[in-house]
Amino acid sequence: MEDGEQFNYNICDSLNHQLHCIGKIDFPHCLFCPEKDETMHHYLLNCPQYTRERHILNNTLRRQASSIAFLLASKKAIDPLRRFINSTGRFKMTFGEIPLTK
Ligand SMILES: [Zn+2]
Repeated sequence: MEDGEQFNYNICDSLNHQLHCIGKIDFPHCLFCPEKDETMHHYLLNCPQYTRERHILNNTLRRQASSIAFLLASKKAIDPLRRFINSTGRFKMTFGEIPLTK
């Protein structure tokens, strides 16, 4: 696995659902959707808070943007996904601005 891909995985490991699973925080839910767990699926594909940012990702990657496997594993998705993550501001506190690979 390339560094860039590994890093995107690490970021998704810092979502509330994962942190709750390993006992780091008390609640698994999304900060914007109290009834939903903040899973990768929710953050990347469903959370209504990030509709605008997701629209840009969809425009870049087209249909592939709806595949988590593609988003996390394809070289082509590394930078578009990082732009998405940066633009949502979700991990600014944890990781700062994430550098693009090119
Ligand atoms: Zn949400």
